[in-house]
Amino acid sequence: MKKYVLTCLIFMLFVWSSSGYAYPERFDVIIDVGHGGIDGGTVSPNNMLEKDLNLEIGKKLYQKLMDQGYNVGITRLRDYALSDDSRLGIRSRHLRDLTQRKLIADALKPKLFISIHMNAAAKESRRGPLVIYQASEKSYAVAQLLQQHLNEVYKMKKWPLKGKSYFLMKHLEMPSVIVEVGYMSNPRDLAMLTDEAMQTQLVDAMAHSIGEYFLVYPVD
Ligand SMILES: [Zn+2]
Repeated sequence: MKKYVLTCLIFMLFVWSSSGYAYPERFDVIIDVGHGGIDGGTVSPNNMLEKDLNLEIGKKLYQKLMDQGYNVGITRLRDYALSDDSRLGIRSRHLRDLTQRKLIADALKPKLFISIHMNAAAKESRRGPLVIYQASEKSYAVAQLLQQHLNEVYKMKKWPLKGKSYFLMKHLEMPSVIVEVGYMSNPRDLAMLTDEAMQTQLVDAMAHSIGEYFLVYPVD
């Protein structure tokens, strides 16, 4: 198992050296970019793939938080299936993917783990952001902030959801949330999610929330 953790660390080192940042001693935030490679995630009515939107928004959030001085890691910076790295002999590709994400979190031990996803529903009218949290005080705190500030961008009032049954929520030791940024099945949401200026607003709202969270629970 160590070998694969090492692969992750080498990858992270590459990310840092190529971006001109020194490898940090500690990680404040890991941004987990959902899906990738063979796993496209949700598909919009016009055939856009969730994995691509997750990457666009995840990369923007990564850059924004780094600019603010946080030590940030990201699980992928390109279109890539994390399950391909797994040599654990797990038959389910989905479980291999999630296990790799957990290994990265276990190795880097961030103060916060944020998974970026897009939602979809059979009912086209469903829309808005949804933050899913781990059953812990800190996880709930950051989820509330994220939900509140994303609600402001959407001009909606929605509540975060406890995610007991989600693999990452169950197995990660640090506060962790899944941010379902919007519904790809809803035309209004999809227009927002694919608009450069709106993406920036959504990312600013998330970065702001994370900043507020670290005021309450400082990194050191
Ligand atoms: Zn997803």
